[in-house]
Amino acid sequence: MEETIFEKIIARKIPANIAYEDDAYIVIHDISPQAPVHVLVIPKRRIATLNDLTPGDTDLVAGIFLVAAKVMKTLGYSDYRTVFNCGPGAQQTVFHLHLHVLAGRKFNWPPG
Ligand code: 5GP
Repeated sequence: MEETIFEKIIARKIPANIAYEDDAYIVIHDISPQAPVHVLVIPKRRIATLNDLTPGDTDLVAGIFLVAAKVMKTLGYSDYRTVFNCGPGAQQTVFHLHLHVLAGRKFNWPPG
């Protein structure tokens, strides 16, 4: 399978503004931010979409949220929007699971 852009970032083949990293996750600032703060929480192990998760991924998925909360606390935000786009119809463009975390502006509901 061809490497995703996120795998290239994890392997330091292309640069990114890294907000956090540990053995299992990397958090980068989105190259095209949709809010004053817009980070992507990415498990290093590639899973293409939410539809590809299995029960064995439970801890990995829980960790995405724990990392998101930790990073947003570090960045000074307690209010933020979290989004998983799943599939092209929902505007997923990188098929390597990632949680968008956006902060620093007013968010509307329902989302567009
Ligand atoms: P998706 O559309 O799959 O939900 O989200 C993919 C996100 O990755 C988009 O918000 C897009 O701006 C971001 N992105 C795509 N390529 C790069 C890149 O090379 N570097 C960074 N930091 N973000 C990227």
